[in-house]
Amino acid sequence: MTRNVDFLVIGSGIAGLSFALKAAKHGKVLIVTKANEDESNTKYAQGGVAVVVDKKEDSFEKHINDTLIAGDGLCDPEVVRAVVTEGPERINEIIDYGTNFDKTNDGIYDLAKEGGHSEFRVLHYKDITGFEIERALLEQIHAEPNIEILTHYFAVDLITQHHLGEFVDKSTDDIKCYGIYAFNTETNHVEKILSKITVMASGGAGHIYSVTTNPIIATGDGVAMVYRAKGKVRNMEFIQFHPTALYNPGEYPSFLISEAVRGFGGILKRTNGEEFMQEYDPRKSLAPRDIVARAIDAEIKKSGEDYVYLDVRHKKKEDILQHFPNIYAKCLDMGIDMTRDMIPVAPACHYMCGGVMVDHSGRSSINRLYACGECSSTGLHGANRLASNSLLEALVFAHRIYKDAIVDFSNIVVPDNIPDWDEKGVQLLNEDILVTHNIREMQKLMNDYVGIVRSDFRLERAMRRLRLLYEETEEFYKRTKLSVKLCELRNLIQVSYIVVKSAMMRKESRGLHYTTDYPAHQEVLEDTVF
Ligand code: FAD
Repeated sequence: MTRNVDFLVIGSGIAGLSFALKAAKHGKVLIVTKANEDESNTKYAQGGVAVVVDKKEDSFEKHINDTLIAGDGLCDPEVVRAVVTEGPERINEIIDYGTNFDKTNDGIYDLAKEGGHSEFRVLHYKDITGFEIERALLEQIHAEPNIEILTHYFAVDLITQHHLGEFVDKSTDDIKCYGIYAFNTETNHVEKILSKITVMASGGAGHIYSVTTNPIIATGDGVAMVYRAKGKVRNMEFIQFHPTALYNPGEYPSFLISEAVRGFGGILKRTNGEEFMQEYDPRKSLAPRDIVARAIDAEIKKSGEDYVYLDVRHKKKEDILQHFPNIYAKCLDMGIDMTRDMIPVAPACHYMCGGVMVDHSGRSSINRLYACGECSSTGLHGANRLASNSLLEALVFAHRIYKDAIVDFSNIVVPDNIPDWDEKGVQLLNEDILVTHNIREMQKLMNDYVGIVRSDFRLERAMRRLRLLYEETEEFYKRTKLSVKLCELRNLIQVSYIVVKSAMMRKESRGLHYTTDYPAHQEVLEDTVF
């Protein structure tokens, strides 16, 4: 089956949906998403959106400065300025779409403060901000006749000239994207979707690690697809570990205890009740995520325990319940009453700072292909993302992509000789467990050797093991009928490979990449580009 559309969007999180709503005013939009329509990292965002609302205390310059400090020298300052200054307008749009943010009794926005922010500037809706944004966007999408959503469709590969038999490699400077091959999980067949413009909005890759806050859709599919299509990928060594995921062995993925809990006054403590962050950073528990995550990692290694505690018992019960009803309910479910008990927490993989390399209009190195949201590398985050900047980035770049994409899309012609997906000669997979085993093996090796503290020795170890898994999986992929699990395994291994290779190339410690072999900054500022 072949479909033809003007705008094809891969993913239904904040990036994909906000672009789709705008593009639909100009042409036919198709959103392809691999699970239920609301399943996304967006849905689980708790803390909120960082944006300058209070112009008395806060300013664009302060937000820009905080972002640049967190990014540790690798941010693109022009992008930082654009996202911060265009942010308020984009936030007003989603408020107009019906998104609610909490207000104080005086009717002004109730702003939270998170690690690395010098001011209170995080708009939130209780502790379920992402859920609220996703709800409001989907409501608008459903009312838009020019948008169709295909759920449980898995984007397998981008279609380029390669599929017309032409030679394409990284040095080809005119690779064009004509759409995707997508696996319909109901019929178990691969369909061809042709598009004038394609927007990759496929989110993060938390599941390259066995401990992650990301929902199971986050398998790095977009980065892997672009990499296979010979597009450029940037700064993938910068993986953000959230310092405070709820420690609950056996729960997968991990439940997040939002940064806002520390912003609210939560204090990190050893299991014997002693505070420890003053030994690592003068900002104590409110230090940026990378510092807190490394401190907790060090404490865990010293004590041999699997977690530390986050303590909010000194705060008023009614305030805890008002700000964190979801976190309170989740903890209570586990027998922890956070108004009386300390919460056990440990770091978990949380956010992919690198991704598909894009320019200031969200254009990737492949023509007609844009990337937006967590799967992209815009230059905003540099070597470390400032908390609550990612939802804002997705909104600002969705708008920039829309402005760029509508200029000329109607003149684009997609070739009519693109072949159907070739399923000849492949067998049905009768042992799903082999795929599951390989995923677990890969996640464990990433956890063990490519975690918060790295070294050449550990990275080389990881690379040797990944190569073996890569070869096995590619061989398996060639002779086996497609399944979502198999595609995800392949993508996870490819993304892990890029992360390890990028980490090996960076001979310094910067932002989220910390290696015991090169503990200092190198003088030259460099992006890692593949
Ligand atoms: P997502 O929202 O992840 O959407 C990706 C979409 O792509 C999904 O619909 C997925 O199903 C689809 N998809 C993926 N692969 C395929 C494929 N092969 N085929 C078809 N569809 C595919 N950020 C903040 O700014 N503030 C916060 O407070 C905050 N809290 C967070 C809390 C948690 C627990 C998590 C996990 C993240 C948090 N983040 C936060 C990060 C933020 O939520 C994400 O970076 C952001 O939502 C990403 O949006 P996105 O649209 O790029 O991707």
